[in-house]
Amino acid sequence: MTARRPLIAGNWKMNGLKADAELLAGGLASRYKALQKPAFDMLLCPPATLVSVVAGHIAGSGLVLGGQDCHASEKGAHTGDISAWMLRDLGCGYVIVGHSERRADHRESNAVVKDKAQAAQAAGLIAVICIGETEGERDRGEALSVVSEQIRGSLPAGATAQNTVLAYEPVWAIGTGRTPTPDDVAEIHAEARKVANQVMGGGGESLRILYGGSVKPSNAVDFLGLTDVDGALVGGASLKVDDFWAIAQAC
Ligand code: PEP
Repeated sequence: MTARRPLIAGNWKMNGLKADAELLAGGLASRYKALQKPAFDMLLCPPATLVSVVAGHIAGSGLVLGGQDCHASEKGAHTGDISAWMLRDLGCGYVIVGHSERRADHRESNAVVKDKAQAAQAAGLIAVICIGETEGERDRGEALSVVSEQIRGSLPAGATAQNTVLAYEPVWAIGTGRTPTPDDVAEIHAEARKVANQVMGGGGESLRILYGGSVKPSNAVDFLGLTDVDGALVGGASLKVDDFWAIAQAC
């Protein structure tokens, strides 16, 4: 089996001003840089306004930088949007696409997410494609089928384990303090890997699949210890240096 390097990703969402970014990114950068041989990648996804600021604070540390969304086009008349190429230009190596908050707030369909992921890949970024069922879907026993459909609909042609990361984030676990059981997560991740492998035409064993949804220092080990879980996408707990760092220690 191919060894997959864990990825601990922080999604700051719409939080932070320049001074916060300095404390957070600077604090994490000095800790990561002090590691002799870090056994995990650490990704910071600040709001677009802070991408350049964070880039300055993490330079030379080994931390990697990402956007929280991108437009599907390279440039053009799309007021308020930013492109994958713009993120790349600022030093990003990753971009999150299809986060459930964007799927809900901006009505992003699987087809839209797929186009964004394709743009990310064309720009040379790694697309972190988010998938996950709602509470109603889980209650109706549809979690596996919903996640499979999202993978089939959101992964672009040309997706590989090198240019794609999947993040399983049950919608009902995001920001709520509630989490699925480790058995539930293990079941979804195993299925996600199988489906992604089919869609990609192989290479699924090397694909990193993150768990996200109310990950915190006290529960990180429950998820990060699972066979098919290759890291975490963290929202609230990524806004505190000590908490985010403690989560990474569970790798
Ligand atoms: C997220 O928004 O991707 C997320 C997982 O948030 P939280 O960790 O706060 O649940």
